[in-house]
Amino acid sequence: MRVDLHLHSCLSPCGDDQMRPDVLVGFSALGGVELAALTDHNSVRNCPAAAAAAAEYGIGFIPGAEVTTSEDVHCVCLLPTLEAAMAFGAELERHCQQIPNRPDIFGRQTICHPDGPDEEYPWLLLPASDLSILELPAFVRRFDGLCYPAHVDREANGLFAMLGLWPEELDVPAVEIRHRLPAGVPDGLKIIQASDAHRLEDLPEGGFVLPLPSADFEGLARYLRLR
Ligand SMILES: [Zn+2]
Ligand SMILES: [Zn+2]
Repeated sequence: MRVDLHLHSCLSPCGDDQMRPDVLVGFSALGGVELAALTDHNSVRNCPAAAAAAAEYGIGFIPGAEVTTSEDVHCVCLLPTLEAAMAFGAELERHCQQIPNRPDIFGRQTICHPDGPDEEYPWLLLPASDLSILELPAFVRRFDGLCYPAHVDREANGLFAMLGLWPEELDVPAVEIRHRLPAGVPDGLKIIQASDAHRLEDLPEGGFVLPLPSADFEGLARYLRLR
C-alpha cells in the first residue's frame, strides 16, 4: 500500500498557498498514493475539503492534525472519521492560544470549504497547545484516534531535539521519521515514513510503502495492532 500520512495544506501558515486540499489530494493520487492523511498544524479545518477530493479521486483518506505539544514536540494525530476529526479539532482549539495570525509574517491560513468561499483562520496555528506529550495520546483516544511523534529525526520540533530522550511513559504505537531512525526509539514501535510536504514539489512520487490491510484508518489501526 502506498501512503503519505503527513501532509500540510494552505491552512498551515507554512504551507504553500497552492496546497489547496483538492490540489494536494489530486497530486498525491496521480502520483500513485492510495491513502493520504491531512495533518495541518493544530487544525483539522481543511479535512472536509480533502475528504471530498479523496472520494472524487478514489483514494483513501484519514483526517488528522499535527499537534504541537506544550513541550513544542510535533505529533501526528489521526482520526477514524471526519465526524470524529471535527469533534477532536473543536476540542483541540480550546487547548490552543488565540494569538492573531499575521499573514504578512507567518503566511496565510486558508480554510477551503468544499461548497463555498474560502475563509482565513484568524488565530496563529503554530504555537504550542497546552497538551503535554504524555497527555496527548489519551486526548486523541477520546475521539477513537491515535497519535505518534512526528519527524523524530528532525531538529525542529522533533521529540529528541525538544526532550533529549524518549519519555518512558509515552504510550504510542508508532514513530514517524522523515529519513532515518535515530537512536533512542524503543523497540516494538512501528516506523512510519512520511513526506511532511508543505509545497506541491515536496510531494514524493508514489508516497511510501506500508503493508496495510486496507487503505483507511482501520487498515492503519490494524497494522499498528490497535485492533
Ligand atoms: Zn512538524
Ligand atoms: Zn508537518
